[in-house]
Amino acid sequence: MKINELPTPCYVIDEKKLRENLEILKKVKDDTGCKILLAQKAFSNFFEYPLIGQYLDGTTASGLFEAKLGYEKMGKENHVFAPAFKESEIGELTDICEHLVFNSFSQLEKYADFCKEKGVSIGIRVNPECSTQGDHAIYDPCAPGSRLGVTLANFREDLVEKLDGIHFHTLCEQNSDDLETTLKAVEEKFGKYLKLPNIKWLNMGGGHHITRNDYDIDRLECCIRHMQETYDVTVYVEPGEAVALNAGYLVTEVMDIVDNGIRTLILDASAACHMPDVLEMPYRPPLKDSGEADEKQYTYRLSSMTCLAGDVIGNYSFDHEIQIGDKLYFEDMAIYSMVKNNTFNGMCLPSIARMDENGECSVVKTFGYEEFVRRLG
Ligand SMILES: *Cc1c(COP(=O)(O)O)cnc(C)c1O
Repeated sequence: MKINELPTPCYVIDEKKLRENLEILKKVKDDTGCKILLAQKAFSNFFEYPLIGQYLDGTTASGLFEAKLGYEKMGKENHVFAPAFKESEIGELTDICEHLVFNSFSQLEKYADFCKEKGVSIGIRVNPECSTQGDHAIYDPCAPGSRLGVTLANFREDLVEKLDGIHFHTLCEQNSDDLETTLKAVEEKFGKYLKLPNIKWLNMGGGHHITRNDYDIDRLECCIRHMQETYDVTVYVEPGEAVALNAGYLVTEVMDIVDNGIRTLILDASAACHMPDVLEMPYRPPLKDSGEADEKQYTYRLSSMTCLAGDVIGNYSFDHEIQIGDKLYFEDMAIYSMVKNNTFNGMCLPSIARMDENGECSVVKTFGYEEFVRRLG
């Protein structure tokens, strides 16, 4: 089946593009000897894990469910970080994860000995208090008062011998110059701990936009080598976005066109339900064969079938007039989309399809009324 024959709305994972991203990440591994994990938070379509597992070292999770998925579907290294771990979950987590990162020394004190008995390598997340992202405050773990990571002032030297590794995660869609800046802060504040012989690994988190065209990979590799050589640690990076960047689409159909002063397309896809980052972040998703408002001859506001007035994706222009029944293709829709879907308004979840290297599409999963009902009682 071709992409234009898929039922709508439908996410499509572009396996050619996914593989291209993985080749880039693999080269960083081969060049430096670092390890790279898939951050499942961004992309959890496990039917692609066999492919991803050919290139990367494993998975990282934000909690038990993602950790289980990584364990079951990739089965390679399995790391987990969460601001807190529940007593009811720590047993299973330590069965399936060989690396566990705490967010505080109180969590570490509570669970470190148990983890050690189970042979789990443990780390602490630090906060280098070095903000490098200007305009996305909700994605800045270094914002004042942030709950994420231990600041130098709260670092417990008396517990440092329990640690096997140190973790930081401060970037979001950033280039390696910001990593370099962050590393200076990490070294200045936590370098003396990184030098301790029990510290065997450094996890530099995600937010590295490694597969973006203008990403400076040489600088990343310099940063990785510098940390490896100075501190004699295994370096991990755990990108989410970069793994599946530009490797997916959301196909939608124009259901109606309403003109109450603004020509508006009613789509069977929704920002609120199917691309929540458009409203949360916010950002404007790329759309195939379109321009900015008024850049091309025909401008429309793109909106959805929900009753939320603000469920607007943005204003886009086209070379030709849009007709009811036309299909539109949102791009860069593999990441932070399917993992964040919801059924607000009783909207149906989009189907999920894969597109192979020849452009041939097949539907992996369709959804219905059951998904809506099952979560509500
Ligand atoms: C979100 C997150 C990642 C992945 O971030 P991307 O921006 O998708 O690369 C990695 N590690 C941690 C701890 C995270 O919270």
